[in-house]
Amino acid sequence: MHIEESVKLDFKDVLIRPKRSTLTSRLGVDIRREFIFHHSRKTYHGIPIIASNMDSTGTMEMAHALAVHQLSVALHKHYSIDELERFFLSLKNGDTAPSSAFYSMGISTSDYEKFTSVMARLNGAIDYVCIDVANGYTEGFINFVKKVRKAFPHLTIMAGNVVTGDITEELILAGADIVKVGIGPGSVCTTRKMTGVGYPQLSAVIECADAAHGLGGQICADGGCAVPGDLAKAFGGGADFVMLGGMLAGHDECAGDVVERDGKKFKRFYGMSSRAAMEKYAGGVAEYRAAEGKEVLVEYRGSVANTLQDILGGVRSACTYVGAHKLKELTKRTTFVRVTQQLNEVFGKS
Ligand code: 5GP
Repeated sequence: MHIEESVKLDFKDVLIRPKRSTLTSRLGVDIRREFIFHHSRKTYHGIPIIASNMDSTGTMEMAHALAVHQLSVALHKHYSIDELERFFLSLKNGDTAPSSAFYSMGISTSDYEKFTSVMARLNGAIDYVCIDVANGYTEGFINFVKKVRKAFPHLTIMAGNVVTGDITEELILAGADIVKVGIGPGSVCTTRKMTGVGYPQLSAVIECADAAHGLGGQICADGGCAVPGDLAKAFGGGADFVMLGGMLAGHDECAGDVVERDGKKFKRFYGMSSRAAMEKYAGGVAEYRAAEGKEVLVEYRGSVANTLQDILGGVRSACTYVGAHKLKELTKRTTFVRVTQQLNEVFGKS
């Protein structure tokens, strides 16, 4: 048994210290990024925020809505081959920005076969893929990333989830361009409760970003952002991309119907390892496993455009406070201060 004594941090444990700057307005801040990916050598332009490949947020409707603002979506895994073909063809025809969508897959043989048949139908026209497992620490996962890299040298591969530098490096060496970071921080995740496993998300981001950047790779901070300031902290900690589930839930562009309770409108939102998801897609929770996600009702919030304005405004404003003209400069201008209190909640929590 070993105890790691150094303090590990979550978003709630820090604030970003303001810095003297020449910036006069947040209008002068550019929060787009440009990357050339380590393996695919493809160029990315956009605002590096990705809707999570959960089946409520990773929708084609969300992809179209976010593309207008140059954000991306990781589509959920449950679309049919026909639906995927139509969608990616529309991207190819220029109806939506090409960097707006990641195809998501697990690592089973049928996941791979489905992907290769969609790719074949589209003559290889998918640019971004997200290889997604709850636990990125298995040999099978790393070998799968190697296999996809070998078969598709020009594909931009995001792979995860992990939370430490060693495995981040291994994944980049195996062929990942972007490593997805986060085990347990998600809003509807119960992994920490059910297994005791996890890692404070801000420290995971800082450590994995350092490891990835040393090899020319990128990371995506996945899970645990509850307010726009958390995205600023993730970017400040070195995240190249941030993935959002809960913050984008409850909108028109999410899957599922609006439900009414006591005169208020809600939308269902559940973890992809929750009982609700397993009942929908796998005919129930298999006997050998427990659900590691939960289901909640999120207040209905209309179009995602309003929420985006808040999120992007928050990140832009964070850049102004530390004098970063571009999002790219935010990490180098970030000093985190450890705190014991974040917010004044005398008038409630919102
Ligand atoms: P959020 O932005 O809602 O805090 O976190 C979203 C992330 O939570 C997802 O992108 C995914 O990595 C993770 N997640 C989604 N569903 C589940 C689940 O059922 N169990 C666990 N452990 N994590 C989940």
